[in-house]
Amino acid sequence: MEYFDTIVIGGGPAGMMATIASAFYGQQTLLIEKNKRLGKKLAGTGGGRCNVTNNGTLDDLLAGIPGNGRFLYSVFSQFDNHDIIAFFEDNGVKLKVEDHGRVFPKTDKSRTIIQALENKIQELGATILTNTEVVSVKKVDEQFQVKSADQIFTSDKLIVTTGGKSYPSTGSTGFGHDIARHFKLHVTDLEAAESPLLTDFPHKALQGISLDDVTLSYGKHKITHDLLFTHFGLSGPAALRLSSFVKGGEIAHLDFLPNQCQENLKTYFEENREKSVKNTLKGLVPERVAEFLAGDKADSKIKQLHPKDLENLISQLKGMEIPITGKMSLAKSFVTKGGVDLKEINPKTLESKKVPHLHFAGEVLDINAHTGGFNITSALCTGWVAGIQSPWD
Ligand SMILES: Cc1cc2nc3c(=O)[nH]c(=O)nc-3n(C[C@H](O)[C@H](O)[C@H](O)COP(=O)(O)OP(=O)(O)OC[C@H]3O[C@@H](n4cnc5c(N)ncnc54)[C@H](O)[C@@H]3O)c2cc1C
Repeated sequence: MEYFDTIVIGGGPAGMMATIASAFYGQQTLLIEKNKRLGKKLAGTGGGRCNVTNNGTLDDLLAGIPGNGRFLYSVFSQFDNHDIIAFFEDNGVKLKVEDHGRVFPKTDKSRTIIQALENKIQELGATILTNTEVVSVKKVDEQFQVKSADQIFTSDKLIVTTGGKSYPSTGSTGFGHDIARHFKLHVTDLEAAESPLLTDFPHKALQGISLDDVTLSYGKHKITHDLLFTHFGLSGPAALRLSSFVKGGEIAHLDFLPNQCQENLKTYFEENREKSVKNTLKGLVPERVAEFLAGDKADSKIKQLHPKDLENLISQLKGMEIPITGKMSLAKSFVTKGGVDLKEINPKTLESKKVPHLHFAGEVLDINAHTGGFNITSALCTGWVAGIQSPWD
């Protein structure tokens, strides 16, 4: 039985940062990860470029974390998105800010971020054990016993950073919730969040098209952000954010031009009345959308359109109907809503109120955020705060 001051289970962003913080504060630390490599899910974020954080204000962060973001006030007062940026820059990673405050490594490669975290863990002398799945955890006297298939480790402090239940192929299968239940902590219901939408729609015609800053709405819920047409329906931040308001069976509306009013569009069509419908539309929307909306009138001139057809075109541009048939399951959603009940957790230390020296960080907690770097910010910041707590107090 090998002893460590602190054991961290799960090598995603929360676990890697918890290990760094713990080792930085002098704790002899072991990080156990069941995959061959650390950060498998993190590697796939931001289209494989790693959306490492968001550079917004505290208000932006809280707005980006609709699932219990307010619980993180104390965490962010200790370590926030600006500390994440400073951390990577101090460790030689050049970052850049893209639209909507999303922060990426300048290399556009996730590897850069994961390697920097791994290098820091090694520099601080913590131990990384990959390819090792923790199968059970218990507390014997004052120490934790952490078991893999063929080893037992003991520690004074345990940090659980095993993630949620989305994309289980990346390793997040909900093991941390089992640990919480073992210690008689309540786990709230787990649901899909940030889910791609399934639509009853001519998918082939629009598949692969991405649109910047369009408005997708259902009833009073309006989201203006980027949208992606896929082979099954809709993805991209606008669809993912709307997913928390729809179940399937609703009609969503897509405004391709949220900054243009109907009157402006009428004037625009009037000014282009000698041009073909398709070419006129191409001045407003991407070519394949123009072809789709123009349909069999593509080569007609605007002046040849019946006023009703022109009206119809404008209403399509300002509110194309999209029937939603459902949304992706928890396993195929980007984020898990629900997790270890925050009533069980001290917000200053992320320690269990019932079990001393047992901490949780990252998506295993009942915190869910929008994509755009907000989940990763929550994971890295909660990881840091869980890591710095002393196992000897
Ligand atoms: C495709 C995709 C794109 C995303 N894009 C974004 C984005 O752009 N912005 C954003 O903010 N968020 C995004 N997210 C969400 C974000 O990646 C997660 O919220 C974040 O990775 C959670 O970090 P974590 O450290 O809590 O958990 P995870 O990253 O899930 O890491 C948990 C780790 O624990 C390990 N583990 C689990 N059980 C055991 C065990 N028994 N023994 C040992 N190890 C174990 C797992 O193998 C895993 O490596 C995206 C998610 C997906 C799936």
